[in-house]
Amino acid sequence: MNRRGILIVVSGFSGSGKGTLMKELLGRYKETYALSISATTRSPREGEVDGREYFFKTREEFEKMIAKDELIEYARYVENYYGTPREYVEKQLEAGKDVILEIEIQGALKVKEAFPDTLLLFVTPPSAEELKKRLVGRGTETMEVIESRMKRAVEEAEGMDRYDYLIINDELEVCTEQMHTIIQSEHHRSFRN
Ligand code: 5GP
Repeated sequence: MNRRGILIVVSGFSGSGKGTLMKELLGRYKETYALSISATTRSPREGEVDGREYFFKTREEFEKMIAKDELIEYARYVENYYGTPREYVEKQLEAGKDVILEIEIQGALKVKEAFPDTLLLFVTPPSAEELKKRLVGRGTETMEVIESRMKRAVEEAEGMDRYDYLIINDELEVCTEQMHTIIQSEHHRSFRN
């Protein structure tokens, strides 16, 4: 493969189901995509493994990464830092993989500014009720955290029109294929060729 990969940002409300969607996409098209693993200062949820879902860092470690310019972008989200390590992303793009960053909106806009060819995708659940149901149903967060995440979702909704495509996450299979089609069409855009 000699074409360079596309950098893709996927954002969506916490509870939009974008994590499941990403797993499905990456499972189906293993050779095409690489998922960037972020660094974060938030504590691991049950079942999360260091180096798989996230690189879990202390605040000091995270600030050192910022100082050494090891992150493409970083943002604060509900009291914690989240950031994208640079090295992995650059290597995968170079190798021709389409690299997916699953990050929130502040980070998304920073990436777009630094790399204008980035494709921005926004995943939404079919309705606000469905969003709350999914957040509560996950059972990993306290009501207080759920409320802050819902509040944050309302703020993020205002930034949705900055994204190139909206994806309504209704049916997993349909959505996965839609996302794949959108991304692969992007390779044919005249400015990339
Ligand atoms: P969670 O705590 O639910 O795993 O993630 C909270 C939010 O942080 C989500 O919207 C997620 O997409 C975002 N996020 C995860 N990693 C990064 C990152 O590296 N940078 C930024 N800006 N946001 C991130």
